[in-house]
This record gives sequence, C-alpha cells and structure tokens, in this order.
Amino acid sequence: MYGKGENFDDRKRWERVDKAQRGAAALNDAAIWRLKNAADAMDNGKLDSASIRTMEDFEKAFGDEAATAANMRGVAQRYEQANAALRDTSQFKVNAHNSKEFYAIRTGASPDSMGSAPNGSTRMDLNFGHDDIGKDEKLMWTMAHEALHGRGSALRDYKIPGVTRNDDEIGAYKFDRGGGGRKLFEELKDDPGQTLINPDHLVSFAQDFGLTEALEALPRPRRKR
Ligand SMILES: [Zn+2]
Repeated sequence: MYGKGENFDDRKRWERVDKAQRGAAALNDAAIWRLKNAADAMDNGKLDSASIRTMEDFEKAFGDEAATAANMRGVAQRYEQANAALRDTSQFKVNAHNSKEFYAIRTGASPDSMGSAPNGSTRMDLNFGHDDIGKDEKLMWTMAHEALHGRGSALRDYKIPGVTRNDDEIGAYKFDRGGGGRKLFEELKDDPGQTLINPDHLVSFAQDFGLTEALEALPRPRRKR
C-alpha cells in the first residue's frame, strides 16, 4: 500500500485512505481476473457467458471494437502495474493537504482535483479541501486513478493540446464539474487507442462495470497482504 505520508495525524483519515486503496486494488484484481479469462476464451475459441459479458462491459468502457484479446491483456497489465504501487509498503507515499497546500505543491493539477500524482513517481497527493473527498467511492476512484500515473504504468491523462478552460488543458475525466472533461471522456470512446491508456477509462471499467461478477470471480481464499 502507499505508505502514510504527511498530514495523517488523524487516525480516521488514514483508515479511510488505506481502506480506499485496498478497495481499489481489489477491484483491479477482479478486473484482471475477468480480462485474462475472457482473453484466454477468445484465443481458444471457447466463449462462455462470463467472457461475453466481460467483452460487452469492456466495449462499454473503452469503445466499440475495443474487445480484442490483446487489448484485454494490455489493460490487465496496466492494472497489475497500478496494484504494484497500491501494494508497495516502502517506496510509495501518499500525502494529505488542504486545498491551498495542494495547489501550492501540485501546480500542474487540474482545477477541481481531488488528487494528483507526478507522472512516473512514487508519491500521491490528496486534496482534503475537495467537497467530494468525504465520499468513500470517490476517494477510491481517485486513488485508483492516481496510482495509474505512478511509477509502473506511468500513464498520462488524455488532453487535446490547446483545448483549454481557464488556461488549463481539459482532460478526459469522468467527473469534471467545470464541463468539457466529461464530454471528452465520452467522445474518446470513438478512439479505443486512447481510451485503453487513459486513466479514467481504466478506472471506469474496474469500478463501473460487472462488479458483482468480478468480485465473485476472484479466486478464494485470498491471503491477506
Ligand atoms: Zn490524472
């Protein structure tokens, strides 16, 4: 897990963050399991109903025509890289900030950000001044997203150069209250080459689709780490 960085004197705050990152990693595990099974079934020409459901969910998340075995294995690998960060106990650190500190430290962060992680780094910063950070599911989404920027997968948010709002380039984000980002997030599904490497589309597949089946599909018993 990302280790405890700055401003976690409040035990409850840390417990929420740690629970969120464990939840994000578990949902990534479930997605990896589904994707590998479906990719194997496609390669073997033996599609069962679970694999077909995975293919349908995959195309809802990433766009039509996206559900190839190679694409599924590529996405599974990105989740594995994110989980290596979410489950690292020594090198990765997460820090908590109020909004003022957050934007002072993370000058490149988009407006209305709940979190930020320098590309390819081992740190994550969370904005505890954000209205939605008190919602466990939003915190889990944010940690899953930021881990995909970290060392390992080191993905970047999709942005169109020059398409800006208040001088910041608009990213393809599912949650974007300022407008623009959500539209870009939906439109990008016409281009699976981009959705397959855009953090919010990856988080969406793992957290928005087929969760019950995904969690049931996980091999049990799982050893605690
Ligand atoms: Zn991002």
